[in-house]
Amino acid sequence: MQTNEELTPTGSKHTFYVAPGVWGLKTVLVNLYFIAGEAVADETTPWVLVDAGLYGSAGKIKQAAEELFGKYNWPKAILLTHGHFDHVGALKELAIEWDVPVYTHRMELPYLTGLSSYPPPDPSVGGGGMSYLSFMYPKKPIDITSNIELLPDDGTIPGLPDWHWLETPGHTPGHVSFFRERDRVLLAGDAFVTRHGESMLAVITQKQEVHGPPAYFTPDWTRAQRSVEKLANLQPNVAATGHGLPMQGRELREQLNALTRNFREMAVPAHGRYVAQPAIANEQGVVMVPPPVKNPVATPLLAAGILSATGIALLLWNKQRNKAEARKKVLYHNRPTSGAPFAVTIEEDNPNAYTNNYP
Ligand SMILES: [Zn+2]
Ligand SMILES: [Zn+2]
Repeated sequence: MQTNEELTPTGSKHTFYVAPGVWGLKTVLVNLYFIAGEAVADETTPWVLVDAGLYGSAGKIKQAAEELFGKYNWPKAILLTHGHFDHVGALKELAIEWDVPVYTHRMELPYLTGLSSYPPPDPSVGGGGMSYLSFMYPKKPIDITSNIELLPDDGTIPGLPDWHWLETPGHTPGHVSFFRERDRVLLAGDAFVTRHGESMLAVITQKQEVHGPPAYFTPDWTRAQRSVEKLANLQPNVAATGHGLPMQGRELREQLNALTRNFREMAVPAHGRYVAQPAIANEQGVVMVPPPVKNPVATPLLAAGILSATGIALLLWNKQRNKAEARKKVLYHNRPTSGAPFAVTIEEDNPNAYTNNYP
């Protein structure tokens, strides 16, 4: 048996070390995290998964879990910071196979129960290839109604007594972050990130730097700013986010404070669909989005973006996803939904019947 302090900093072959009992795994563009619920990590340690990566990454996630916690030690739960496609790609497959609850915030439910699409991404914010390509990102909500549970109102997290969750909306309506007070470890999802969120180059080089939430996917900047202030006030020692490598100590706190002080200049795009007014959402999903703005990105740049390696990879990935979906058998199980404020019926054959259809 090893204590977390004795574990190698890398934790396993595929994960990266964040803090005692916390490891991250990068799936192409996005991180997810493993948290041990006790001071030891072995084949009996209870643990939870935070977020679920890109579609097609279930095998990689299971392999990393096995290296950390053994083959037959499945997690007690999956926690979601939010339901964007790059954080829930392998969610359905894992939740069904492990038969575990998926904890989320009430305001995030519509996007996880097939009820509503997120506000459309805004490629007009500019800033780099990740933005230019954002019009191609999957928009339809997933449906994991059978496994979904609400995070407890008192801020606690089932199975993780040392941790609590905080509301950090703005990037999405029900975005949450997770914090361990004892050693001030923060998992911030996309409330802020530790690499440039829009630049393709930063994705490749992984330069560590505190940035605001990915701009093309953030439809409420006033709330996003308040959330960053809230997280900066926690004075975290370590922050691990949805995109980029973990940061720690003075560098983290100074950059986070600078982002808080200069949020408008550093995080909010100079122009964009959601800059003047936010998208509005309620517990049923998105009810209003501002009209699209003219995309100021030059056409050649856009074409170059589409032809980039990531563009091609995304196309292939979508194709593979559609094929896999078509092949997949529907799996049923009997977990009762607790805490969901409404029941959702989905017309499988008509995707427009249950998603918002935005201009
Ligand atoms: Zn996101
Ligand atoms: Zn993300």
